[in-house]
Amino acid sequence: MPSLPHVVSRLRPPDFDAGSVWLVGAGPGDPGLLTLHALHALSEADVVLHDALVSPEILALAAGARLQPVGKRAGGARTHQLRINQRLIGLARQGLRVLRLKGGDPLVFGRGGEEALALAAAGIPFRIVPGVSAAIGGTASAGIPLTHRMLARSVVCATGHDLRGEAPDVTRFAGADTLVFYMGLRHAGALAEQLIEAGRAPDDGVAFVANATMSSQSVTLGTLDTAASVAATLSPDDPTLIVVGPVVALRDMLRPLQQTAPLTMLPEPMTAAGARR
Ligand code: SAH
Repeated sequence: MPSLPHVVSRLRPPDFDAGSVWLVGAGPGDPGLLTLHALHALSEADVVLHDALVSPEILALAAGARLQPVGKRAGGARTHQLRINQRLIGLARQGLRVLRLKGGDPLVFGRGGEEALALAAAGIPFRIVPGVSAAIGGTASAGIPLTHRMLARSVVCATGHDLRGEAPDVTRFAGADTLVFYMGLRHAGALAEQLIEAGRAPDDGVAFVANATMSSQSVTLGTLDTAASVAATLSPDDPTLIVVGPVVALRDMLRPLQQTAPLTMLPEPMTAAGARR
């Protein structure tokens, strides 16, 4: 059976102090994309406040911690950001090791900055552990090199929905070689229309990358002028990136041989009594 090298057991991670908060990125889904800091935090934490996007496989690594979901999904129930901040502060003041676990990177469309500011204002020590953001991990897993030489010298990562839940004005990004929209699936048509109006070719490549890096990953290709109809065929509840630009065409060349299986976990061994340990 393949195994991770023994050297991992010799790594000495920094202390996760009682009464501190770690704001940690869990990556886009594949547990193999966790950082070593994230893995350490999961094994040490007393309590984990996590987003809905964090996969059950990753949460299973926090065997000794109390799990508190505070996530919000588009249109679903949400925990108000101020309440999350207060809860982080309250738990740290109880002397717990508090892990705030977010999908991707905590500071990329993750409001980790607001939480860090609240902790700093409250005098709570904290650490920020970056994670592989969806735009990085998801496009790699989809076989889309964001800045392929000769095709792209710039990338813009932007949100595809604004505070009112509508499509934001994205015309000022139209000149970037590659665009990656987070949270844009519901507004794919409006975003594409704006980009065409701002001068991009209607046949510019578009990729919808859903559940990136997970075993359920799916990639659907289209163009700016078909974006609305392609988006309508996709599940609005799956986390999805929209990638726009000529680099999208490379996917078909890479796909036949690109391996994308995520790290999976074996079931827990059964005890003699038949119960899980
Ligand atoms: N902090 C996260 C982003 C949170 S915003 C990060 O750095 O990745 C949530 C949006 O991220 C989703 O609507 C989707 O657009 C994108 N996203 C997150 N995980 C994803 C995944 N596994 N596949 C595709 N898109 C993903």
